[in-house]
Amino acid sequence: MTAPVEMLTVAEAREAILERFASLEPETVLLLDAVDRVLTERIEADVDLPPFDNSSMDGYAVRALDIAGATRERPVRLRVVADVAAGHPTGVMLEPGTAARITTGAPLPRGADAVVPVEATDDPSRGASQLRSEIAIFQEARSGAHVRHPGEDVRRGQVVLDRGALIRYAEVAMLAAVGRASVRVVRRPRVALFATGDELVAPDERPGPGQIRNANELGTAAQVLRYGGVPVLLGIARDAEADVREKFEEALAQRADLIVTSAGVSVGAHDVVKDVVRAHGEIALWRIRMRPGKPLAFGHYKSTPFFGLPGNPVSAMLTFEQFVRPVLLKMGGRIHLDKPTVQVRLLEAVESDGRETYARAWVERDGPGYVARLSGDQGSNVLSALAGANALLIVPEGVTRLEAGSRAWAQMLYWPEGDVCG
Ligand code: AMP
Ligand code: MG
Repeated sequence: MTAPVEMLTVAEAREAILERFASLEPETVLLLDAVDRVLTERIEADVDLPPFDNSSMDGYAVRALDIAGATRERPVRLRVVADVAAGHPTGVMLEPGTAARITTGAPLPRGADAVVPVEATDDPSRGASQLRSEIAIFQEARSGAHVRHPGEDVRRGQVVLDRGALIRYAEVAMLAAVGRASVRVVRRPRVALFATGDELVAPDERPGPGQIRNANELGTAAQVLRYGGVPVLLGIARDAEADVREKFEEALAQRADLIVTSAGVSVGAHDVVKDVVRAHGEIALWRIRMRPGKPLAFGHYKSTPFFGLPGNPVSAMLTFEQFVRPVLLKMGGRIHLDKPTVQVRLLEAVESDGRETYARAWVERDGPGYVARLSGDQGSNVLSALAGANALLIVPEGVTRLEAGSRAWAQMLYWPEGDVCG
């Protein structure tokens, strides 16, 4: 990108931004650190799963032939010769006419080929009591009944997860089961954040006259966390070039992969962020035909990519959603970057000025589909409407009004995205 391109559509800007990012390099981490991250190696099972014949029920291991024809009226009596608990293999061999009490997950004794659940026996204790010398079986079983065989789930040497897989809890369990306590995954992007503005005080301070608390830094830091990054909090810079430059330098010193600032990118007299970036890097893109959020800057400070979000908190967090979120996901190795959307029926009219609009809304089920209503005042500073929203209604570019009763697309704010990789 060379000359600044002004007033792109959301889709154009997104594409131009995303093409400048790639997946970060891998690192080896413990399994719990791998959650929600993307695998960069191919994982093969080092054992069969299950590894040995074992019972899927608490009951009695039997020879199926012995109990052919057993019913409640005509039970078959077997001599109990062993008690096999999970984790305690036995050397016992079941001879005809014998059974072994067995628990779920315990290795099947040799000679046995089926398990009768305790409910189909006269064991009143459901297996909890002392071992009985004889047991009545009320039900016949086919050979293999309630027995789990080696490799039924996964065969040794089989690829259980491939590169690009998103590690969710099921994948964590699978990795643990095949003996992987640590894995290679894409590194998390480090995102340096600072807010700019002479009016700002920290959240734990009481604002004086003309002051407000810095809501954006922690709000966007929470977004960084949610989309797989590591927030690096740098605090507040005053609306002065030296102060802003110092924060940028601190971001570099902190090895940031991305720098995200808020405010000071508009056309106000004290909007110095763009000037600082221009002096030491490039503003590749500024202003997008989006509502809220027109003054979004993107470029790089020295060689580190930079987003200058608008100052109004709703604009800051929604431009983050549309532009920074997919960048973080892409850096994290995700392939599917889109937010989940559903079609909704509008319960009230939604207006726009013709820019692509993201209206704060509440979406809920209504029969087989969804309905949506606005969650409050649509001002770009109105945090309560964003806090009360579970979705963003999209009014497409060029449309100024969607009527009540008409259909629209809603981006679901708290539905998982990028869940499927590859
Ligand atoms: P600006 O982009 O500097 O023109 O700021 C736009 C609006 O956002 C102003 O009302 C600012 O007071 C407000 N604002 C700027 N930074 C923050 C922040 N970190 N937290 C909350 N509001 C902010
Ligand atoms: Mg300002």
